[in-house]
Amino acid sequence: MATKQIPYKTYLTEEEMPKYWYNVKAHMKGGHAPFINPATQKPCTKADLQTVFCDECIDQELNDTDELIEIPADIRHFYKTFRPSPLVRAYFLEEMLGTPAEIYYKFEGNNTSGSHKLNSAAAQAYYAKKQGLKSITTETGAGQWGTALAMASAFYGLHLDVYMVKVSYEQKPFRKEVIRTYGANVIPSPSDTTAAGRKILKEFPGTGGSLGCAISEAVEKAVSTESCRYVLGSVLDHVLLHQSIIGLECKTALDRFGVTPDIIVGCMGGGSNFGGLIAPYMGEKLQGKNEIEFIGVEPASCPSLTRGKFVYDYCDSAKTTPLAKMYTLGCGFMPSSNHAGGLRYHGMSPVISQLYHDGYLNAVAVEQKKVFDAAVSFAKCEGILPAPESSHAIRVAIDKALECKRTGEKKKILFGLTGTGYFDLAAYKQYNDGVMNDYIPTDADLQKGFDTIPKCAVNEKLL
Ligand SMILES: *Cc1c(COP(=O)(O)O)cnc(C)c1O
Repeated sequence: MATKQIPYKTYLTEEEMPKYWYNVKAHMKGGHAPFINPATQKPCTKADLQTVFCDECIDQELNDTDELIEIPADIRHFYKTFRPSPLVRAYFLEEMLGTPAEIYYKFEGNNTSGSHKLNSAAAQAYYAKKQGLKSITTETGAGQWGTALAMASAFYGLHLDVYMVKVSYEQKPFRKEVIRTYGANVIPSPSDTTAAGRKILKEFPGTGGSLGCAISEAVEKAVSTESCRYVLGSVLDHVLLHQSIIGLECKTALDRFGVTPDIIVGCMGGGSNFGGLIAPYMGEKLQGKNEIEFIGVEPASCPSLTRGKFVYDYCDSAKTTPLAKMYTLGCGFMPSSNHAGGLRYHGMSPVISQLYHDGYLNAVAVEQKKVFDAAVSFAKCEGILPAPESSHAIRVAIDKALECKRTGEKKKILFGLTGTGYFDLAAYKQYNDGVMNDYIPTDADLQKGFDTIPKCAVNEKLL
C-alpha cells in the first residue's frame, strides 16, 4: 500500500463528536403517513403510544420538524466506551478488485454486541431510566439487539427481558450467554409465558419463531407489567434518529478530506443503520444540495422493498401494535429459516419506505451465496470477519466498484459495515461446506403473506 493522502482509518476527536442527532424528517415534506390506531382507524395520539413506549422516544417519534435533536450528556458519556467508530478507506479491497473507484466503509462492529445496535440501545435505556421505569422488554432475532440492550441496561441499571427468536436461541447458545452475562433474562420465542406466544405455538407447532412473533410477546409483557415499557431496535423513526450518529461521524470525517460520496450503500433489515448512515446526506439531497445515489440492500429471501406492498400493516405477527404505512410482505409472512437473521423482518422503516416511494433511494435484493462470496473476499483483504447482514452491503459495494472497473469511472463509494460475524459461524460453516442454498420466495409464497395484511378502512384505497 503506497502512502496515500487519506489515511487508512479516520477517527474523530472528542471535540468533533456530534452533540446532536440528525432528524431527516425535518426535510421530508409532510414526513410520512402517521401511525394508525387499529381500533379507531385514526392517527395514534401520544397517549395511545404511552402504554407501550417511553415518553421521550414517543416525542422523538412524532417530531417531524426539528432537524437537530440534542444528545444528552449521559448518552454521550456512554458513547465514549465504543465511539467514535472508524471510517476506513478500503485500500486493500480497492487493490484486490483493481478498481479505479474509491471505497470507504464505516465500521460499527467494535463493541461487545458486535453491531451498530448499541447506538440506539444506549439512548433507549437512558430514557427509560430517566422516566423512572423499573424494567424494559424487547425481542431479538439474530441476537445483536438483545446483546446491545443488555449492555445498555447494565450500564444504566435496568431489568431487561429479552424474547429471543427460537431458532437463534438454539443456533447461537453463546450469544444468549453474553446477554445473560450482562444481567438480562432471555426467553425463547414463541414461549408459553404470553397469550401471543401460546396462540402461535398452537397454530404453528414446532415453529422456529420470527421477529414479528417475538415482538408480540415482548409488547404483551411490557403492557401487562407495572413500570415496564417495550423498546424496539429498528424500524421506528426514533431508532433511525439515534443511528444518525453513524452518518454524522462519517460526514465530519469525509468532509475533512473534501470527499462527498457518489454512492452510499447499506444493508436493510428494518432500515435503521441505513437510515442513520444516509441521514445527513439525504437531508441535503432533499434540499437539492447533492445527487448521491443511495442503495439499500435486502436479502432476496425477505424482499420487503423490492417486492412488498406500500400499505398499512401491523409491526408484529399477533397484530397488537399500531398500523404503520410501510413496504411490507404482510405481518404473517414467515421467512425461510435462511441466515442473515437480522434482515428477516416483514416490514421496513416508514421513513425509508416513504423515501423509496418518492424516488430518493434505490433498493436491490441479493442472494445469499453471492453475499457470502463477497464476505469472504472482504475478510481476506480487509481483515474483518463481517456479519452476514453487513455483507449484503459489501456485495453491492463490490459490484459497483467492478462496474467502475469496466467503465473507468472513479466513483466514491461509501458503505456501512454494521457488524462482525463471530456468532454467525454456523452460516459460514454452511458456506465453507458448500451446502448453503439460496431461497427466493415464489409469488405464491409472497401472496400468503400479503393475505395477512389487514383489510381495514385506511387500507381501502391501497390494497
Ligand atoms: C440488526 C442488524 C442489521 C439490520 O438492522 P437495521 O435496522 O436494518 O439496521 C444489520 N446488520 C447488523 C450487524 C445487525 O445486527
